[in-house]
Amino acid sequence: MASFSVRFLGCKVSQTDAQAVRERLLRDGHAEAEGSGDVAVVNTCCVTNEALAKSRQAASRAARMHRRVFVTGCGAQLSAAAFAGLPENVTVVSGRIEEAVERIAGDVGAIGCVRADAGLDRVRAFVKIQDGCSFGCSFCVIPLVRGATRSRRAAAVLGEIRRRAAQGHREIVLTGVNLGCFRDREAGFTLARLIHEAGAVDGVERLRLSSIEVNHVHDELVAALRETPTVAPHLHVPLQSGDDAVLRAMGRRYSVETYLRKLEPLRDFNLTADVIVGFPAEDDAAFERTLETVRAAGLTKVHVFPYSPRPGTATAAADTVPPEVKKERSARLRALSDAACRARWRAKIGVEDVVLVDRPGRGYGADYSPWLVAGGPLGELVRVRGRAVTEEGILADAA
Ligand code: SF4
Repeated sequence: MASFSVRFLGCKVSQTDAQAVRERLLRDGHAEAEGSGDVAVVNTCCVTNEALAKSRQAASRAARMHRRVFVTGCGAQLSAAAFAGLPENVTVVSGRIEEAVERIAGDVGAIGCVRADAGLDRVRAFVKIQDGCSFGCSFCVIPLVRGATRSRRAAAVLGEIRRRAAQGHREIVLTGVNLGCFRDREAGFTLARLIHEAGAVDGVERLRLSSIEVNHVHDELVAALRETPTVAPHLHVPLQSGDDAVLRAMGRRYSVETYLRKLEPLRDFNLTADVIVGFPAEDDAAFERTLETVRAAGLTKVHVFPYSPRPGTATAAADTVPPEVKKERSARLRALSDAACRARWRAKIGVEDVVLVDRPGRGYGADYSPWLVAGGPLGELVRVRGRAVTEEGILADAA
């Protein structure tokens, strides 16, 4: 039996892939250990230069604390060279995650199913329904590292959700690189039908989508989100820019007007987004329009990505906005996002919500607002009432 730890950088797909490695090693009888140990797996991200640099740092740190380190994920897939020069105990495993899981499991050495399901996260399960992307956003390296879109069979997804619910997971998050591309034509499934059926699985108390492109927010999807009682009223819809010329240069295939119109039927949801700041076509006026769009859409949490050119993309050679301008714009956008989050949290003072406690003293409400719940039982849904707002979330009283 080996002791191991798995960490990930980046998005929920990276988290889902890290979860796949972790569960495979647990199933094979290995024991999870924080800090030092025999084996560390670092599932990396390459969405920006910064993400890749952080991935390298994480691998380097892990190499000091573990006998063997496996570097997997998008960073490893894009550029093994980014991890060159690390200590000899670091192995870069490129290739799809399914292959990486097999390779790592083989190297670590399976010892049989002696601890099946031991230590699995029993709170929230990330279930991958789709991988890859066939869109061609000019800045994006993801299609290069993850390949074209492909969907899992609906039956396999629903089977996994039933298993997760039976293990005690209260919340299911459907993940994928471009979720709206999910299809199982043979079985007659769209994402909307999958939401209906996944949300009705016995034991599933809360269902979320990790994110959805605005082009995929149409009547059928909105109806599925509204009609499925377990669907959480939160949607993450990447915006990237609030300026039409920048969106065109990014190859995003929607206008600001479309973005706002498509989200209109979901205005009562907590809407969050990604925005890239300092894209080459973004001047001051374009950035101001992004701020206006964030306000007009009623977005709360905005994940701000200062633009950095990625190798192999259409804009690989372009990076015209000076770093200090990117920094200043990023700070302004983060400040706007923080203020919008606070306003949403303040509206919960005196109001009841149901929080899934996922860490000691903390959890998320139905709309993914963070709550501080002293003494809440881990893995349980607790009814609370907002008392005050702090830096980190809403302070809860038992309701
Ligand atoms: S939709 Fe665009 S940004 Fe998103 S993964 Fe596909 S190419 Fe990248």
